[in-house]
Parts: sequence; structure tokens; C-alpha cells
Amino acid sequence: MRKKQFKAESKKLLDMMINSIYTHKEIFLRELISNASDATDKLYFKSLTDTSIDTSDLKIRIDLDKENRTITISDNGIGMTADELENNLGTIAKSDSLNFKKENEDNENMENIEVIGQFGVGFYSSFMVADRVEVVSKALGADTASRWTSEGADGYTVEECEKDGVGTVITLHIKENTENDDYDQFLEQYKIQELVKKYSDYIRYPIVMEMTSQVPDPDNEGEYLTEINDEVLNSQVPLWRKSKSEIKDDEYNEFYKQKFYDYNDPALVIHSKTEGQATFDALMFIPKSAPFDFYSKEYEKGLQLYSNGVLIMDKCADLLPDYFSFVKGLVDSADLSLNISREILQHDHQLKIIAKAIDKKLKSELKKLLTKDREKYEAFWEAFGVQLKWGVYADYGMNKDGLKDLIIFKSSNGGYTTLKEYTERMADSQDNIYYACGESAEKIALLPQCEAVKEKGYELLYFTDDVDEFAIQMLMEYDGKHFANILKDDFDLSTDAEKEAIEKKNEDSKEWLGKMKDLLGDEVTAVKLTNKLGSHAVSLVAEGYVSLEMAKVLSQMPGAGNEMKAQLVLEISSSHPIANKLASCDDETLNKYTKILYNQARLIAGLSIDNPTELADSIAELMV
Ligand code: ADP
Repeated sequence: MRKKQFKAESKKLLDMMINSIYTHKEIFLRELISNASDATDKLYFKSLTDTSIDTSDLKIRIDLDKENRTITISDNGIGMTADELENNLGTIAKSDSLNFKKENEDNENMENIEVIGQFGVGFYSSFMVADRVEVVSKALGADTASRWTSEGADGYTVEECEKDGVGTVITLHIKENTENDDYDQFLEQYKIQELVKKYSDYIRYPIVMEMTSQVPDPDNEGEYLTEINDEVLNSQVPLWRKSKSEIKDDEYNEFYKQKFYDYNDPALVIHSKTEGQATFDALMFIPKSAPFDFYSKEYEKGLQLYSNGVLIMDKCADLLPDYFSFVKGLVDSADLSLNISREILQHDHQLKIIAKAIDKKLKSELKKLLTKDREKYEAFWEAFGVQLKWGVYADYGMNKDGLKDLIIFKSSNGGYTTLKEYTERMADSQDNIYYACGESAEKIALLPQCEAVKEKGYELLYFTDDVDEFAIQMLMEYDGKHFANILKDDFDLSTDAEKEAIEKKNEDSKEWLGKMKDLLGDEVTAVKLTNKLGSHAVSLVAEGYVSLEMAKVLSQMPGAGNEMKAQLVLEISSSHPIANKLASCDDETLNKYTKILYNQARLIAGLSIDNPTELADSIAELMV
């Protein structure tokens, strides 16, 4: 029989398993049991539309043979053909494993091995405890069975063999003890019993093992008899069906990590039982951080959908709005018909009601977190806040009302603020909610316009995400207060008298301001004197609907044309000595200064400049 080689990636993972220094080798059992359970689910699901399939005795068996050092895990699930054995066990297809492998590519000494067990590393984990693994399987509908055998990294063989009944039998030949590793423990009943309880208690099929126990001999007092019985090791109640009071935090965390391939505990667990228009259990998790593929096209949002404990869909997208796409979890409802096809599912009235209830539940839980545990909420916000802001903007603002009180921004008040907190702090004289956009809160705080706002004692929201201003435009107002960008031409905190004075100054300076405008051509729509800049000399602001920040974002979008350019106004501080200088200098100097000032204003606004060398040369020339 010819030995076949593992695919390169599989081989690497396999190597890691074989040489694993991971201390929790015990997770191999959990992995094999959950594979067996998945295979049984698949068979059960098929039986819903094919009544010839017998599902009366679905179970998972564990057999220990101390003498021959083997553990055997058998299921009567869907089984695998020879091809499937080869494809499924000769390759890792799962992106999580692949990704893990990538992350650890440079990590030859596998310091990160602790992470392994937290992922669903699956079948290969058996090589952490076994030096030989045999898989005998017969697929549903097949006439023959096959045996897959491997002793690790040097390859595997597949051959035809005999097997009664459909299903899979996996035999692990357990390694000999070493100085550092105790493998014998996995051949002990009590250990296996403990591991099943710990990791696989909620598996919905009975996990059966032959248990030997000593019972008092009824005929001979003081004597004991050895009794051998098949015992069911697991309670078979899915975690989400148990009542909350029975579940420990650890159980939730373990369940989450196993099921959703995260190595961190979740940030928030939401377990709810709903009765009424729709009856369902939901168990949802908000991860601590975005999964590695969250921002890729491959990421699929959705919750697992169960009907009375039977998985009918792995990622039901309709259960989650896009702005909650980071939520992981499952929904179990008896109201859904079991043999439901995906298309029908989309139009299922019941499903819509559930989705609505879930949306409401998630919002109320986040609201609760916001009021009860601000620190935790802010951590959540830093991981996923952008999603909620997109939610406000998306679908023409359809969801904005439900989300506006979950949104927080950094502000000049220090730290984060909700819009409600902001408006409650507003001074009587303050008409608008003021904001400015920029790369970071620190950078925004340095903008020339901030000085005037600060002087008035007004609070400023710092918008640092691309979506911020778009979301706020969609919101339009909060509690009757409108939003005002302090980098807009029409932003003005001055009194009527001050306004009149600056208008007059502009009128008097028409000639040289006009010359500056002509020099800059289409770059700006106007050059103006202003009293808004405090001690600073120049600034660029935008006129009309499109702000500077929006223009930046829009210009980065594919297919962006010129139509979305911001209309820029170059503002010069009327109280700065530079204004006098400009008014009195000759045309050649005005030309030079105009270019310098304009480019500096662009830099302040975070815009790029066409010729940085020219700017540097001009300034150097002035210096010497
Ligand atoms: P995962 O279970 O995460 O997909 P594994 O490496 O554990 O990765 O298993 C690979 C594949 O092998 C499974 O997806 C499944 O198709 C198949 N498989 C594993 N164990 C069994 C089993 N007991 N019965 C049927 N198929 C199985």
C-alpha cells in the first residue's frame, strides 16, 4: 500500500501537534467528540427528509483498552467515503487553522502553542496524545468502508475494510509516558468521565462508556462485586437550554471559545429566553476584539440557527442587522419548521419576529452596559463602535433613532461622551453641538479654530473616524440641537458688532484679497479675513455641504471624481500681523506669501500639498 503525503499546510499543523508542549493535551477528546456530534447532526438532518434513515439509536461511544493502550471513539453519524477520508483528514481546509498557522509561521519554537487548544484544531489534536491513529468509516449509502491510518507527519494510508453499519470509529494508540508527560491518565475511566463532563456535557447525543464499579455483594457481607455497565457520561442539555442561574461564567466562556474559535473570553454574554410572539432561546456573545477576518470580504455575519436543539443553519445572516455583524451566537426556536430550506427561511415570518427581538435585546444590553459599566462599554466601543456609526448612516438613516443613544465620541471635555451628556452640559448661550474632524483627538485639539470654541467654554466633539461626519449628517440633530463643524465657512461665534467689523475689514481689503484669490485660481473659492482664529495666522475651511473631511473620504472612494471636492476658503486672521504685511507688500512678495500661506493652511487641515520642496525652499529663503 502506497503511503500518501499530507498537504504542506496540514503537515505543518500536524508537526505542531506531534511535538506539542501544550499542557492541555486533553482537548483532543473534546475535538473528536464534537466531530462525532457534527457527523451525527448531519445524519439526523438528512433523516428529516429521508424517512428510511434510522435515527433511533444515535450515540457516541468511548471505549478504553488499557492493555493495548487505545481509546476508541465511535459514532453512528453520517460517516465518510474513502475520498472524504482523504480530503478531510489529509488537508486542513478550515480558515481558522490556516490563519493560526500563518500567525505562527515565524514561530518555529512554537512559544504560542498555548493558543492551539483554544482554536478548533480538530482531528489533528489526536496526535498530541497518540502516536498512531486509525479511522474506520462507512458513509451513508456506501457499500464499502475504508480505513485511514497515520503515524504522523510521514503520511497516511487509506484502504478498503469491513465495517458494520454507517458511522466512524476512531482508534487512538496512546503514547507512552515520558518524564514530562502523563499519557496514562487518558486510559483511566475517571479521567475520561471528567473530561466529557468538562468539555462535552451539552452534546445532544448520549456519550456512552463502559464503566466498571464495585458494588456490595448481596450474598456475602463485606464483599464486593465488580459490575460493568454502559453509562451515559453527559447531561445532553445544550448550554442555552439550561437556566442562567445554573451556568457559571466559565462555562459560557469555554462554550464561546470552543464554538466560535476565539482565544479570548467574550466581552459580553447575552443569554435570553423569550416567550410571546416568538418563543426562542438566544445565547449571544460580543467578542473582545474583531476576528482577524472581520474586515475582509470573506467574513459572514450571522447567528447559528437551531430548531429544537437541531442545527439548521450555521450562519443565519437575517438574524443580525449589519451594524451588529460582530455578534456571535445562536438562536434556538421550536417555532421554525425543521426541513425549512434556505430560501423559504428568508421569508419566514417567524424568523423576522425573532430578528427584531434580537436587535432590541442587543440594543438594550448595550444600553445597560453603557450606563452600568462605562469602562467596559468604552472598550467595546473601541473594538466595534465604528459599526454602530455606520449603522446610523446606512440605509438612509433608517436605524438612526435606535442607535443614536449608543453612540459615543471623544470630546474636549476629556474622554468619551454620549450626545445626551453633551447636550446636558451645553451652556445656555450655546446653540449648536460643535465638532471638528481630524486624525486623532490630539491633532484636532491643535486646530486654530479650537481656540475660539474653547474661549467660549463650549465643548467640542472630536470626529476621528471617516464615518463620523456622514453619520452625524444623517442624524441631523440631537434633542433639537444641530451639529456644527467648526471647520466650515459659516461657523461663527462672534457678536453682531464683531461680525460687522470683520465685514468692513474685508471690504477695505478687497483689492489684495482679490489678488490672492486670483493667484490661487480654482484651488479656493475665496480668500477672506476672519476673527475666528485666535492667535493663529491662517486656516482653510469648507464652504457649502461637503466638508474637508468628507471630501477626503469621498476622494478615496473608488470612482471618485471631482464633483465631490470641497469648496475651500482660505481664511487669514485679521488680528495677526501677517494681515498688515499682506496689505502693504508688493505683488511679487504677495505672490510668494500667498503660496506659502495656502500650503501651510493645507497642512494644518491635513491635506497634502503638491510641491513640498517649493514650500521648504520659500521658507528657507525667507529665513536667510
Ligand atoms: P473541523 O471539524 O473543524 O472541520 P477536523 O480536522 O476536526 O476539522 O475535521 C475535518 C473534517 O473531517 C470535518 O469537517 C468532517 O467533514 C470530517 N470528520 C471528522 N470527524 C468525523 C466523523 N467522526 N464523522 C464524519 N466526518 C468527520
